[in-house]
Amino acid sequence: MFTIVSLPGDGIGPEVVAGATRVIQALAEKHDLEFSIEEHPFGGASYDAHGEMLTAETLEACKECDAVLLGAVGGPKWENLPHDKKPEAALLKLRKELGLFANFRPAKVYDALVDASSLKPEILSGTDFTVIRELTGGIYFGQPRGYDESKGWNTMVYERHEVERIVRLAFDAAMKRKKRLVSIDKANVLECSQFWRNIVHEIHKDFPEVELQDMYVDNAAMQIVRDPKQFDVIVTKNLFGDILSDISGMITGSLGMLPSASIGTIHALYEPIHGSAPDIAGQNKANPIATIASVAMMFEHSFCMKNIKEEIYAAIEKTLSEGFRTVDIANPGDRVVSTTAITDAIISNLKAS
Ligand code: NAD
Repeated sequence: MFTIVSLPGDGIGPEVVAGATRVIQALAEKHDLEFSIEEHPFGGASYDAHGEMLTAETLEACKECDAVLLGAVGGPKWENLPHDKKPEAALLKLRKELGLFANFRPAKVYDALVDASSLKPEILSGTDFTVIRELTGGIYFGQPRGYDESKGWNTMVYERHEVERIVRLAFDAAMKRKKRLVSIDKANVLECSQFWRNIVHEIHKDFPEVELQDMYVDNAAMQIVRDPKQFDVIVTKNLFGDILSDISGMITGSLGMLPSASIGTIHALYEPIHGSAPDIAGQNKANPIATIASVAMMFEHSFCMKNIKEEIYAAIEKTLSEGFRTVDIANPGDRVVSTTAITDAIISNLKAS
């Protein structure tokens, strides 16, 4: 039996997590698998009920389970709380406590939505790569940091073990895909990047089948937009990954389509990259695909069932090709359906496959 902790959170979080939970239940039935899905309060919902965004009980449950599925947190109601009490602080604490040092963001284009991107269809069609961003080190955490009247400063620092573990994970991921890895750095200017690059090449010796390429971050930003199909797996440090994973995601379509996985040595958390969308919360309008695709990543990474991940993606693709669109991905004239209707369609395609 696999144990999943579900943290629906706030705004559209509960709606999209409910859809994704129904997908898991349908898969359990289809493949004769057993899941225990335990729901816990998190974010504003938890603050209202318990006076804390992340209770000790929720944290403990996340540490005990095989995988965490998160919706989204935050909203206007909790915006004016002190910084350390805000939902974002709880999210950072959760990631840190679970030791989630690697963030996976797939950039996959669905054929049915190829026209929705700002890029030309012929450039985009067939794009399917993953950005792996180091999540708990680098300039976002390095000391010293600060500013005064005359200057501001941050420190980009990586320990050897921090680079080694993410780079190994990236080579492993490349081995499971097309065996091509691009490591993105700024080794021509930053010593910290040269250090990163040296370690990447050391570890490459253990993965001789993987074709490795180094790329400077400025060139990478250009290449992702110019010819995204050239990439298979990208690995990069925290700062560069923050920016490049957003670019990579957005060339493929709407916020409502983009899943993510944050992985550590022991724990893993899966979540859509969008927020709680207070403007459409409670209206059954939210696109659940990002969360359902996050479940697909859960099947691959936490349960080692790549076949089910592919089944989920195929069911999403089929549903889109049948013309189902939530409001965020609809063009004028499209048939706009609700969160539950598009989830029903995905489930029925899953059952039929
Ligand atoms: P947002 O992602 O919630 O929404 C941006 C726009 O995209 C909105 O118009 C929204 O309606 C739309 N949108 C987002 N997801 C959608 C979906 N699944 N289906 C259809 N439309 C969708 O970003 P925001 O408005 O900047 O933030 C709202 C709240 O969410 C804030 O409190 C913010 O702090 C929080 N937030 C949380 C997370 C998280 O939980 N990981 C991430 C980002 C923002």
